[in-house]
Amino acid sequence: MENPAYMLSVVIPAYNEALVLPRCLRSLRDQDYQGEYEVIVVDNGSTDGTGEVARRFGAIVVHCRQKGVAYAREVGLQSAKGEILVQCDADNVMPPNWLSKIASHFETHPEDAGLSGDAHYQDEPLWHRPFSLINRWLNQISHRWLRCPMSILAANFAARREALIAAGGYNLNLPQCGDELDLLLRLKGIGSVTYDPHLIMETSSRRFRGRFWQFLLSDVLYSTAVGLLLQRITRRPIRISRKNVREEAFARRPRPWAWRPRVAISAVVILMVISGTLVYGFFVPTSEAFGKVYYASKIHEKVVALTFDDGPNEPYTSQILDILHQYDVKATFFVVGRNVEYYPETTRRIIAEGHVVGNHSWNHSAVQPIVDRRDLDLARSQRAIKQVAGVEPHLFRPPFGRKTPWEMKQLRKQDMVVVTWSVSANDPRQPPPSVIAGRVVKRTKSGAIILLHDGNETIHGGNRTNTVAALPLIIEILTREGYTFVTVPELLKVDPYLH
Ligand code: ZN
Repeated sequence: MENPAYMLSVVIPAYNEALVLPRCLRSLRDQDYQGEYEVIVVDNGSTDGTGEVARRFGAIVVHCRQKGVAYAREVGLQSAKGEILVQCDADNVMPPNWLSKIASHFETHPEDAGLSGDAHYQDEPLWHRPFSLINRWLNQISHRWLRCPMSILAANFAARREALIAAGGYNLNLPQCGDELDLLLRLKGIGSVTYDPHLIMETSSRRFRGRFWQFLLSDVLYSTAVGLLLQRITRRPIRISRKNVREEAFARRPRPWAWRPRVAISAVVILMVISGTLVYGFFVPTSEAFGKVYYASKIHEKVVALTFDDGPNEPYTSQILDILHQYDVKATFFVVGRNVEYYPETTRRIIAEGHVVGNHSWNHSAVQPIVDRRDLDLARSQRAIKQVAGVEPHLFRPPFGRKTPWEMKQLRKQDMVVVTWSVSANDPRQPPPSVIAGRVVKRTKSGAIILLHDGNETIHGGNRTNTVAALPLIIEILTREGYTFVTVPELLKVDPYLH
């Protein structure tokens, strides 16, 4: 730039950042910006020598005793001398043209109050990437159509100092993320805010690494959506972790109305995405969102596996065994522990006739975890099966196909193979046998795992007459179509039992 007009103040809030700060400050020292700029490190009560490190790199160090990033930024704003206040974080690394880009933007856009860039995360966890991508898209779409980004990135943001002050500075009442959205909305009342996807800095993924649930619930859902919404509805600051020292100043601020639909829309979109993902991950039998699940085999031979759930349940299980014997077909029975204890003879007969028994929980509860800290449900069912039939199943089928991340983790630890299904006839409602058979035949492909029910969840009972009557039809039609029947362990090439 020929004649740089602006002085810039880079403000870095820092709490015990001595380790990462040198890289950040080095990248700020190596800027190609020809104008004047100062680097202010706000030491937020560090005990690791953050202040000394900052001074060594020529930064101005100011202290902020009140813990919290918003407090630190506010102190930085108060000590800044530049016309443009530039925000970044201690774990950022900026490209050499970062400051000159920012300065030239404000020079060519006198109407702009703020400029937000984007981040490139080092070693970004896989699960976080869709969030980054969606965030980028939303910002681009919003910037294009509403002339304002959806959100700003506190670690890569610049604003005119007077605009920031006119907007009331940083909001000390809002937790992480919410304060950024709040700042954006207030700043917008002063001048435009631009989103530049090419204004990039590098930052570490330490904020969300290994914190999937916390990130989802706290950062995304609560802080950005619910917290801000609550605050707008109740018209008072919602305090989470920060002490409210500027309540009066906040109350006097004008309340622009224009952002309300946007907050509501983003809250709804975020809630829909989250609930959609959870429902899919939890209940869709073919979803592997939370871990490996076998719902079919990818083989091309016309081989399928028949499975019967929720039994044993007499007389139906015995009737099914008779039919399987008659056609010389082997199947897999996912038994409920309670019913195994109730029908030990039937359980033994299943195994004696060459079929396989898998674990389908003890209680078949919709809500009770199958693996809690003491593994009550799953282990109890394993014990019952071992006691009655002398085997410990290797296969587990979650009741209702429910798969929670924590249960999946436990199952993995215990070396259980999680099996769901690719073909269901919805036979618990007992439609006519021809309907049950028709559904199965229509949906069956090579490698399919077919779900039928000989039992009725936890109750020792439940009429399964139509399932029994449909079974010969299913076997005959599929055999005619060239299919052969195997057990699930044969289909998946895994051991049927542990040890
Ligand atoms: Zn079941």
